Amino acid sequence: MAGGWARDGAVQDQIDDTVSDAVSAARARMPKGDSAKYCDECGEPIPEKRREALPGVRTCVECQSGRDAATRQLSINRRGSKDSQLR
Ligand SMILES: [Zn+2]
Repeated sequence: MAGGWARDGAVQDQIDDTVSDAVSAARARMPKGDSAKYCDECGEPIPEKRREALPGVRTCVECQSGRDAATRQLSINRRGSKDSQLR
């Protein structure tokens, strides 16, 4: 009985690894050192300081925080579909 719980924990660890791998892969796809002058999302100019601080940045602060929220949502959905595959 206790062994069954330990197994579940191991599966959950694997799922967490898969999710963080996906995040790393998404970050690796971002072009480094090619910052956008204007936000990809809203077209607002991106401040020079932000472009220097974040090489490859494509969005302004406001849109980036929106994107981060969307990414979190995506991770939750992915975890959910993985979970149903295991069943
Ligand atoms: Zn923007």
